[in-house]
Amino acid sequence: MSEASTTTCPHCGTRLSRLDLPDVFDHSYDMACFNDECSYYVRGWSWMAERFGVKSSYRYRVDGQSGQESPIAVWSPDALRSSIVPDDAPASTAPKEHS
Ligand SMILES: [Zn+2]
Repeated sequence: MSEASTTTCPHCGTRLSRLDLPDVFDHSYDMACFNDECSYYVRGWSWMAERFGVKSSYRYRVDGQSGQESPIAVWSPDALRSSIVPDDAPASTAPKEHS
């Protein structure tokens, strides 16, 4: 298993951000593309509006445990951003002292 494919977005080439997950998940984080110019995300807005008539989109996401790709739904450009783990943060047990 190579981890190289889970570090950048195949749609825009942006480095993926680590996304902290709630405890209900069986793993602690996913990797997701938070580039607002990403074609996958930009296309998502019109796709969701046409199919479902909703103002929503999705971002490219890779499961942090299985490495499986799947879209993660977002309802605004800021959605889920508060769950992004800063690059310089140590692994999951770190105290959350960033403010
Ligand atoms: Zn992207």
